[in-house]
Order: sequence, then structure tokens, then C-alpha cells
Amino acid sequence: MSSEPGALPRVIDAIFFAAQAHSGQRRKDPEQTPYINHPLALVRILAVEAGVDDPDVLCAAALHDYLEDCCGGEGQLSLDEGRALLRGRFGEAVLALVEAVTDDKTLPKEQRKQLQIEHAALAPHGARLIKLADKIANLRDLRECPPAEWPLDRRRGYFDWAGEVVARIRGTHAVLETLFDRAHAARPA
Ligand code: NDP
Ligand code: ZN
Repeated sequence: MSSEPGALPRVIDAIFFAAQAHSGQRRKDPEQTPYINHPLALVRILAVEAGVDDPDVLCAAALHDYLEDCCGGEGQLSLDEGRALLRGRFGEAVLALVEAVTDDKTLPKEQRKQLQIEHAALAPHGARLIKLADKIANLRDLRECPPAEWPLDRRRGYFDWAGEVVARIRGTHAVLETLFDRAHAARPA
């Protein structure tokens, strides 16, 4: 962890904030794993497996699905309210990283997927680290606890799409790219 004063409490607070925000949400696997396991997996991949110790990146990893999944929907805070909350509690730099990994949910899914490929290389370095960790975590989930009723072609399609996103950001972080390649090697034949 960085020696910046208060770095560790800030990361712990981001994890706590995410746990509250995602409480009640579930992953898509048949066991309906609590959603928070996914942001926690990203923080672990970055901090434990890849040695990333930038507190802004670790906070944003914990919060990376907050705007997408906890704001802008019925009964949720608006996106602007969610942004203001993140800015006030975690700072402008964390908000910028979270925004850089947030899809525009007003667009059709295929367009969002295509934009992730096209925009990946334009994302700031910290956001590319989070994108790598997100893809690693999701490929591992697809092998270990895949969404219920996803046929083989959809699982393969996800591996291929993740590969296209990561191809645009090679050279960002050698350890994370090796972890991605290992996860990607489990693509269903
Ligand atoms: P989705 O975007 O609908 O679902 C994948 C997302 O679900 C992940 O990015 C992850 O997002 C979240 N997620 C939640 N639980 C899990 C879990 N247990 N394991 C993995 N991810 C989980 O996928 P797509 O519709 O894009 O399907 C994948 C690919 O398959 C597509 O790119 C497409 O090419 C192909 N395909 C799609 C079909 C379709 O009907 N849509 C049909 C045939 C092929 P987060 O990190 O935000 O939690
Ligand atoms: Zn995610």
C-alpha cells in the first residue's frame, strides 16, 4: 500500500461503500453469488496478485460497477447523485477512474461492447489496470461459476470479446496481462 496518509482507510471505506451499495444484488451464476464478491475479486487481483498499490486505483476497483449497477435505475440514485457521492467521499481522481470504466447503459448492448473495444486504448492508465482485472475476474467466473443457461457459443463469445478489448491495451501491465492470458487459455473448446 502506498505510504500516503490515510490510504488504507480510504480503500477499506471504498470496499465498505461497495458492499452496502451492492447488497441484495447477485451474480448471474446458479448459486447467485453475492455481487460484492466480484469487486472484491478485482481488488484482490490488483493488490495481491499484481502488486498494484495505488489507493485511487484500488478504491475505483472496489467501486467500478457502482454507477453502472447501483445508479440511474428505478428506486436508485440518479447518475449525477451517484457521481456527487463518489466525488465527495473518495475524490475527483477516483470518480474519474470509475467513470472511465462505466458503460453508457442508454446505448444498445452490442454498441456498448464495440465501444469498450474502441475506447480501451484511450482510457487512463489506472482505468486500464481496472479493465484488465475486470476481464480476468469475469473469465475466471465463466470457468468456475458461469451464468446459468449460457450456451457454449455465448461463453466463447465473451472470451473472444474480452480478448479484443485486452488486445488494445497490451503493454499496460505485464503481470496483469499474464494473468489475463492464463484465464483466457481456459476458453471452452
Ligand atoms: P453480458 O454482458 O450480458 O454478460 C456478461 C457480464 O455479466 C460480465 O461482463 C459481468 O459484468 C456480468 N456477470 C455477472 N455474473 C457473471 C458470471 N457468473 N460470470 C461472468 N460474468 C458475469 O454478456 P454478453 O451478452 O456480451 O455475452 C457474451 C458474448 O457472447 C457477447 O460478446 C456475444 O458476442 C456473445 N453472444 C451473445 C449472445 C446474447 O444473447 N447476448 C448470444 C450468443 C453469443 P460485470 O463485470 O459488469 O459484473
Ligand atoms: Zn465488473
